Amino acid sequence: DKKNNNKERYNLNHLERRPAIFVGIKRDSKIQKARLKLPILAEEQQIMEIINENSIIILAGETGSGKTTQVPQFLYEAGYALEKMIAVTEPRRVAAISMSKRVAQEMSMTSKEISYLIRFEGTVTDQTKIKFMTDGVLLKEVQTDFLLTKYSVVILDEAHERSVYTDILIGLLSRIVPLRNKKGIPLKLIIMSATLRVQDFTENVRLFKVTPPLINIDARQFPVTVHFNKRTNENYLQEAFIKTSKIHKENSEGGILVFVTGQQEVNMLVKKLRNAFPFRNKYKFETQNEKEINDDNRDEENINLQKRLRKKKTKIIPEINLDDYSLPGDNEDSENEELNSDEEFETEMTVVSNNSQPLWVLPLYSMLPSHKQAKVFQPPPPGSRLCIVSTNVAETSLTIPNIKYVVDTGKTKMKLYDKITGVTSYIVTWTSKASASQRTGRAGRMGPGHCYRLYSSAVFNDIFQDYDTPEIQQKPVDDLYLQMKCMNIDKVANFPFPTAPDMLQLKMSENRLTTLGAIKDNRVTPLGRAISKFPVLPRYGKMLALSHQYELLPYTICLVAALSVQEVLLENPIGQTDSEEVKNVRQKWISLRRQWAGTGNFLLLGDAMVLLKAVGAAEYANSEGKLEKFCIENGLRYKAVVEIRKLRIQLTNEIKTNMPEIDIVVDPKLNPPTDLQAKLLRQIMLSGMGDQVAKKITPDELKDGEERRKYKYAYHANNMEEPVYLHQGSVLRKNLPEYVIFQEIYETNKMYMRGVTAIEPEWLPIYVSNLCNLDRPLTEPEPFYDVNSDKIFCYVTGTFGSQNWPIS
Ligand code: ADP
Ligand code: MG
Repeated sequence: DKKNNNKERYNLNHLERRPAIFVGIKRDSKIQKARLKLPILAEEQQIMEIINENSIIILAGETGSGKTTQVPQFLYEAGYALEKMIAVTEPRRVAAISMSKRVAQEMSMTSKEISYLIRFEGTVTDQTKIKFMTDGVLLKEVQTDFLLTKYSVVILDEAHERSVYTDILIGLLSRIVPLRNKKGIPLKLIIMSATLRVQDFTENVRLFKVTPPLINIDARQFPVTVHFNKRTNENYLQEAFIKTSKIHKENSEGGILVFVTGQQEVNMLVKKLRNAFPFRNKYKFETQNEKEINDDNRDEENINLQKRLRKKKTKIIPEINLDDYSLPGDNEDSENEELNSDEEFETEMTVVSNNSQPLWVLPLYSMLPSHKQAKVFQPPPPGSRLCIVSTNVAETSLTIPNIKYVVDTGKTKMKLYDKITGVTSYIVTWTSKASASQRTGRAGRMGPGHCYRLYSSAVFNDIFQDYDTPEIQQKPVDDLYLQMKCMNIDKVANFPFPTAPDMLQLKMSENRLTTLGAIKDNRVTPLGRAISKFPVLPRYGKMLALSHQYELLPYTICLVAALSVQEVLLENPIGQTDSEEVKNVRQKWISLRRQWAGTGNFLLLGDAMVLLKAVGAAEYANSEGKLEKFCIENGLRYKAVVEIRKLRIQLTNEIKTNMPEIDIVVDPKLNPPTDLQAKLLRQIMLSGMGDQVAKKITPDELKDGEERRKYKYAYHANNMEEPVYLHQGSVLRKNLPEYVIFQEIYETNKMYMRGVTAIEPEWLPIYVSNLCNLDRPLTEPEPFYDVNSDKIFCYVTGTFGSQNWPIS
């Protein structure tokens, strides 16, 4: 312990011109005590010596050993933040925020000094010493400052997660570090990872000329008993609920950590557990039962229960701050739950608690507001048991104290990209063996623990992959490809990736970007550069880049924001039998959308118009403080609307900085566009989505009894022969325009287009010329000059897309 207070701990004078510096930190004694228990503290001196002697270091250690919270502090104390900043990247926003806060707290410093920066928000100032950020943020910074001159050290944390951006950063920094050293402004790179597959970095000869030293932190890990289920129940949520209930009722003290796949599941399970093991609303559950039994007296019953509840509440657990348990925002968590599945869940699960110990149930997922995230680190109220229901963020990014039991559904949510068509879908799949063992490890931090795997050992042995596939091998790499092009990386295919991405994908990206006009002859074009400045997919970036005409920018910003956010308009859960009630609600939403769409160019702008109107109307409701209610009544997902607003503001700000000549105000309010603007917006959309054009199959092409809503996809370098259909929620379903563009195709029983807008075929040669084969201009009629538009017009003929549709 003395060692840590000794100002001359490191005698580093002989190393790399670095003086023996010690920058003092005033730490709270409690925190200092907790720190000293961390395995990594014992190795501080060794770690710092290796860092001082080497430019690139790999540091691997069990989750919870103190890498993320301590290494930045070691560096700070050793003087690395005196002139430049220490950068720490995290693949997840939740980790960037929460770790910056924790480190600030441990160092008794402010968020101005120990800061974070994520896509939508940040606390960075000119006093910042340690900057936590998402890996995407640092990658953007490389574009404007390739040598990352603001930083003395870059820590790439959670490298084992193998996020695309971290992978790219590793490749880039493997080149940047030697460059900086050559220039005499040394930069350190520390790659931190859980103890998983470190050889991907160490044994990659393309990456590092000299194998970087590997530091392994041994963590104290208590034995964890693994219990497999005999049978694997399909309904893993129900299984998780039952198991958690059982642990709570029968097992000795200790926190429970449950792993499920996504935000919705987290919220659902949290709700069920809170109902089953009431903390404050002890009678809520009974209320629901009695409602069924005695419908007639329901109201009176309720009132009585309410009264009893109010009386009892303060009596049972007086020390609990009730408002703290259910903050006003709590409802928002559940607002996007699917109507049906929730009810189904309800009837199957009727567990009445006979354990008087309350269960303190908390959700944890990446998008959880930070004040709620912070709660998982606090001890539960006295006399209660902690239970955290989490997505895989609790696997390695965040270490929750005092967990003794882990309930592992074995499931994870994965975004699936069809490499050929680009169709995306989310699927719930089995995690890998590596993930499962990480999850198990969470139970052995404070003492011997137990991990309940809700699947059989046969499933584990036979079906689980050893490791998760790195994201770079799954994701369409358009924006990445473009960003890499902007960094003047000539041959993206030759880049030193830790794991090479799919070469077919790279080829497809190149094609798409060429179609967009962002890349020409293997070079990024000025348009491409403009596109890359926008933090959205290149196709949307192009739409924005073209919009400072006719005052379209606010609308395009709104559209792009709305299109970048998933599921703005709530649809029915797919593939479920509809109750009358659900049908009615949906009918109401659809007719409302038609109303929003209007006529003329408004209608032809289609689903995009609905989005514009929906956002405009929601903002109006928001100015009256009725946003949430408005969203519920109009079938909008509240969180999506909030996200759209954030993105709109961010995009507006970014455009203001990048293009100061454009006069644009940040105002969430949005008047509807004029008819002319609506038409121009259709063209703008086409310019960004020219590879997503579909043409209606003509009546004589249709076979008997076939649906009239059948379209053909124009551009398939991807050989997609299957017809695509207008989605039932589309406002264009009544008038079925001949040519449309769509935002995406998704597959249920058929291939459906989502986000559909009508276009005119004569626009194709203008906005998607790259996909047109144009003949020579016809001699008849002659090219002519139009006085009004000051343009010369000529007639051309040709074909469009891989289907060779004739156009003129
Ligand atoms: P690693 O990065 O090696 O996984 P961390 O540095 O994240 O480890 O965590 C070290 C310790 O700090 C863990 O025991 C963890 O529980 C604790 N810790 C991290 N954040 C907080 C917090 N906000 N409040 C309390 N303890 C925390
Ligand atoms: Mg960590």
